[in-house]
Amino acid sequence: MPSRSSTARPPLWAPVEIIALLDDRYGRAPQRASHDPLFELVLTLLSQHTSDHNSGQAMHRLVERFPHWDDVLAVPVSEVEDAIRPGGLAPTKSKRLQELLAEVRRRAPDWDLEHLRALPLDDAKTWLTSLPGVGPKTAACVLLFALERPALPVDTHVERVSKRLGLVPPKMPADKAHAALEAQLEPGDVYAFHVDLIQHGRRTCHARKPLCEGCVLEPRCPRVGVL
Ligand code: SF4
Repeated sequence: MPSRSSTARPPLWAPVEIIALLDDRYGRAPQRASHDPLFELVLTLLSQHTSDHNSGQAMHRLVERFPHWDDVLAVPVSEVEDAIRPGGLAPTKSKRLQELLAEVRRRAPDWDLEHLRALPLDDAKTWLTSLPGVGPKTAACVLLFALERPALPVDTHVERVSKRLGLVPPKMPADKAHAALEAQLEPGDVYAFHVDLIQHGRRTCHARKPLCEGCVLEPRCPRVGVL
């Protein structure tokens, strides 16, 4: 049998094929709006560099101590820091949170971000990413999870698996990968692609020692034999 290197290169998987295979492999819950968009924005900020468990605890303590967003802005930053301490990096995140909320209140005094649902997608992204401390991943989380808009958050799993599958170049920065991957997806497939690639990254395509043997994407994965 000829070696893999001497045969024609197999075609890459198309995103729609990847979704079908990973859905089949892991299953996937249907999309449902998660939270109010501002709640999602704050939760996403708190979730940076920590586990879902820790950020959930920090969020719980924050809303328990400060029932209204105005309350977060009415106290010294040290009180916010104390409330969100379980989420880690509390000194940095508390300052960022107050800066973020101050700007949101300036632009949307009623704290309502529902208008982002009706804006063209690029305008909604621009509105969010022009807030202090909000990058493309955080903006996409708010748009996708809270507002069910087709914006793709590219987290570490989505980035790693997409690069291994050849969907984006290996050295493309994550902030550019958002647009490059979104352009390959039908709007109705964005949520599925995000959830499926996270599952695959966590369960099979690990950062170190991916379980290529038995991976459903192995037949046309360009990284087999390279890793
Ligand atoms: S074959 Fe290996 S590198 Fe390719 S997607 Fe599967 S686990 Fe990841």
